[in-house]
Amino acid sequence: ELDLRESMSHSQVYLPPQHPAHDEGLTDSNLPHSELGDRFRVYYQPLVDLHSGRIAGFEALLRWQHPQRGMVSPAEFIPVAEETGAIISLGAWVLYEACYQMRAWQHQFPDHAQSIISVNLSPYQLQSPDLKQRLQDILTETGLAPESLKLEITESAVMEEVQTTLEVLHDLKRLQVKLGIDDFGTGYSSLSYLNRFPVNTLKIDRSFVWRMEDSAQDRAIIQTILDLAHILGLDAIAEGIETPEQLAQLRDLGCDIGQGYWFAKPLPAPAAAQLLARRPRW
Ligand code: C2E
Ligand code: MG
Ligand code: MG
Ligand code: MG
Repeated sequence: ELDLRESMSHSQVYLPPQHPAHDEGLTDSNLPHSELGDRFRVYYQPLVDLHSGRIAGFEALLRWQHPQRGMVSPAEFIPVAEETGAIISLGAWVLYEACYQMRAWQHQFPDHAQSIISVNLSPYQLQSPDLKQRLQDILTETGLAPESLKLEITESAVMEEVQTTLEVLHDLKRLQVKLGIDDFGTGYSSLSYLNRFPVNTLKIDRSFVWRMEDSAQDRAIIQTILDLAHILGLDAIAEGIETPEQLAQLRDLGCDIGQGYWFAKPLPAPAAAQLLARRPRW
């Protein structure tokens, strides 16, 4: 952990580097490099449109490449980054990387000109007063359309400080980015608030999907969340799909988007690009 703190302390000074113009060839070697780029990687896991079976976008998932420990899970280092305040610059770096990468793929793969990049936001980022300006700058610098960016906020983060969060989300919405509630079903949503949050999607937590094959109760909860999403005019996403049975059941229940190891694990950018090039259909 000491080592991580050391690593994080450098990231405080990060500013987005200059990057080549988009039309100068959008290869991986043109992606911006930085101090953070040496130690962290953004991985990409496909989001599959369950109606068409096609890739509709990716979720950006952060990885820390530790020289001794190998890839360290975000579950381990995000809390430390939050504690040290480094989450602000680290989070801005992930946003920049992910938006830049998605813009490059939109150019490279015309089928994916409308594809979405989903990026997780820490509640600390949400509380940061310059988040909106930073987002605006990142969208301008990378050239990504705001509708192509979705910010994922966990249900528990959304339900803390409801009034303040509502104001922040409504303000972010003015940028025309998309918003989604992550890990839905694990927090304590007040249904009376849910329709006041300007979100586009509800993402059903993995714990329900895991158990759905054996548990009628978990299937009923999933069905209820799907109905709730659709009544509110939102899309429903299921995370953690690992088997063809789970996929078939979620399709039958009317789930809109799926994510999970059955389709692909989170991939380094070149592998994600290879997947796009193969045009898979599930
Ligand atoms: P999350 O946003 O709910 O992301 C989904 C997690 O489920 C990812 O774990 C992903 O690898 C994993 N997953 C996806 N499909 C499957 C599956 O079929 N089976 C299983 N067993 N797991 C699956 P990961 O990448 O370890 O990330 C963990 C959490 O760390 C994320 O949960 C998110 O809350 C947080 N996180 C990741 N990247 C960032 C980031 O850039 N910023 C912030 N603030 N948090 C991040
Ligand atoms: Mg997420
Ligand atoms: Mg999630
Ligand atoms: Mg989760």
